[in-house]
Parts: sequence; structure tokens; C-alpha cells
Amino acid sequence: MNEDLLSKYPFLKEGLREFFSENKSLEDFLEENEDYLNEVSRDILSLVDSKDVRLNYETEKRVKKYILAKILLTYIRDYFVSAKYAIKERNALYENLTKENEDRVIIRIGKELGISMDLKNASFHIPIPSFLRNAVVFNDKELKLCNQEMDNGNVIASREITSKILREAFYRKYMKEVNEPSELPEEVSNILKKYANPIIIRGEQIKQERANLGPLNKKAFPPCLSMIISQMEKGANVSHPARFFLVTFLHRIGLPNEEIIKYFGEVPDYMEKMTKYQVEHITGTGRGREYSVPSCQTLGSLGLCYRETDDLCRTGKINHPLQYYKIKNSRNRSVDNSRPVNRVDNSSNPKKE
Ligand code: SF4
Repeated sequence: MNEDLLSKYPFLKEGLREFFSENKSLEDFLEENEDYLNEVSRDILSLVDSKDVRLNYETEKRVKKYILAKILLTYIRDYFVSAKYAIKERNALYENLTKENEDRVIIRIGKELGISMDLKNASFHIPIPSFLRNAVVFNDKELKLCNQEMDNGNVIASREITSKILREAFYRKYMKEVNEPSELPEEVSNILKKYANPIIIRGEQIKQERANLGPLNKKAFPPCLSMIISQMEKGANVSHPARFFLVTFLHRIGLPNEEIIKYFGEVPDYMEKMTKYQVEHITGTGRGREYSVPSCQTLGSLGLCYRETDDLCRTGKINHPLQYYKIKNSRNRSVDNSRPVNRVDNSSNPKKE
């Protein structure tokens, strides 16, 4: 097996075969590689804290750390935590795929990820169902089916598009595998516990910090968001980036998906199933990853900023819509920490007004 290939694509089955022999128990593997396990635990903790980590090691270390991270995340089974690591691996995969010289390697990776592609006239032919399953990135026009050339049930895709599809396929598969309920032997759980605990505690702290944005307060919404909501209430067909912003923002301040979906009830092209699917994708609660709320700069470049209509935004000190919300909602944040925060203020739900 080409070692260079495994260091770039450590999820290939050959990596498992080469560095985790079938005769070895999981317990033995963990004990033999405790130093790597320790490193993996620190890496995941850093990623949870939004700090960067490196993944480029020599082949054996790279593959073993990949396997250990997967075991540890399967034990932790927390969507928020596993998404942080999966995004890092997903981005590394994308970078390597876009630089990959060998088409047959790309075909092989597709196969490993459950996508059987053909290569014809220097283009990849991806079956439409596989393409659609992995092209649900909300704000990427390049991935829309209507922008693709098709042939006999396949999308004819460039290297760039194929890399994006494989990137998403990897992420979905990884998240599904590590978040599926699984029973680990007690001895294995005992080894993993001490590495997992700091990660679990930090993950919970971050979720709690997010909850400290306070109960939902529509009056504290930034003008850019209020504008989108008021347009939707009037039945206007708002743009995809505007919808994307709305979903990420409402999710970030703690609205459950069912409440977010209600905001789309007045939109002309509202389709409940599709909306549910897209909301789950953007919030990372379905098979997608959790997307960040766009910054003021991004919203400005999309024509979605209304800073001139608001005193606080006009000061020029607001860089992010959540910063606006946090400031405006500060009085509302004096919540009783000993009890769960009531995240949903029904009076702010447009359908109930
Ligand atoms: S400055 Fe930021 S928060 Fe204010 S309207 Fe513009 S994008 Fe929204």
C-alpha cells in the first residue's frame, strides 16, 4: 500500500488493516498507543475550543491518530464535539482531493465513501442520487443541480465539484458512524473515560455559554435579521443567503429546529419537508454540520446589512450580529443559572403574532 496515500486519506480500509491488525483487541490497541491517544484527546479539546491542530504526520502516526480519534468520539457520542473534529478531517480531505493528480484515487475514494463514479473524457460521472445527497450545501450555487451538465442519470462533474461532493460524503458518513449508538466493552470504556472526560466537560461548558445569550428576545434582534423576518412575514421570497443567515442565527441563540421552521411558514415557495431538511443540515442536527452565523462583513457584501437604520450598528463597533444581540439582550441575560433557561419566547414567533 502506498504510504503517502494513507497519510493523505487515513480513512481508507487499508490503513485499518495495516495499523490495526485483526488479531489485536481494541483494548490492546488503546494501551499500546496511549501516547497517541493522549495527543488525540488534546487535539479534540483544542478543536472544541475552536483552536487549530495539525493533521499532517508520517503515515503510521496519522492513521493511528485517525483511528483513535474515531474510537474516542464514538465513546463520547456528542454531535457538537464530533462535528468539530469531522470538519477538520473533512477540510483536509478536500484540500488533498483538489491537489490529487491521480483520477483513479478519486474514484477509489468515492467507492470507499459509497459513491460509484465513472471517469469519461476527463470528467467524473456521479449518479444523480449520490450527487443530490451530498450537494445540500445551502449557499453554494455551484452545487445546485440546475447548474450541472447531466448524462444518462449522472452529473458530469469537474474535479472541483467532485471534491466537494466527496468532502460532504465523508462528513456525513463520519458523523453517522461516530454518533450511532454502540456498546463498547467495559475495559475499553474504562481506558477511554479519562481521555474523554475533559472533552465532554468543555463541550458542555461551551453549550452552557451559548445558553447564556439568554432567553429569546425578539426586540434584541439586529436590524438585518428583523428585515428578513418582516419580509418573510409579508410573504416575500427572500434570498437563500438571507434564509441561511436566519437559520444560523436563530439556531445559535437557542431556538429548536421546529421553531425555526415556523419562520418559513409564510414564504411562497415553502415546502415543509425540504425546509426541515435544510434547517437540519445548516444547524448540524441532521446529517449536516453546524454552520456559523455570517459576520457583518459577509452580510454587508451580500446586501443584507442595514446598519444605517440603527444607532448601535451606526457606531461601527458591531462586527457580528450575535454581538449586537448580546449587547441588546444583556439585561435579559440575568437568568437563574440553577434552572434551565427558557429558550423560547412564544410571543416572538411570527406565526403566533
Ligand atoms: S452592522 Fe451587522 S448587525 Fe448591524 S445591520 Fe449590519 S450586519 Fe446586521
